[in-house]
Amino acid sequence: MTRIEDGAVARLHYALTDSQCSNCSAQLEWNAVFDNISLPKYIARHCGKIYTISIETVKFDVRDENEERQEKVSEGKEPHAILMAKGMKRRQQEPAKKETRTAKES
Ligand SMILES: [Zn+2]
Repeated sequence: MTRIEDGAVARLHYALTDSQCSNCSAQLEWNAVFDNISLPKYIARHCGKIYTISIETVKFDVRDENEERQEKVSEGKEPHAILMAKGMKRRQQEPAKKETRTAKES
């Protein structure tokens, strides 16, 4: 739990789930106030104080449409068995090298 200080910066998820009143340490319950679309807020009240989260900065994620489509296809058809087989093949080759090495040493 994080006590809120004026001007503190946190991830939105933690701010909403893990913040407490700076006076009595009670967990704050946030109410979304989206009446101003260009400045959405969350507001919580406790111990005579009004706590406000302003969503002023956001994170952009821009990607190519084709890229997203390819990722979805590969997610669905990920040949997990083939990847496992490759891993097993690699593991089988490694001890074989060791065996030849120990054979030369002895
Ligand atoms: Zn309080």
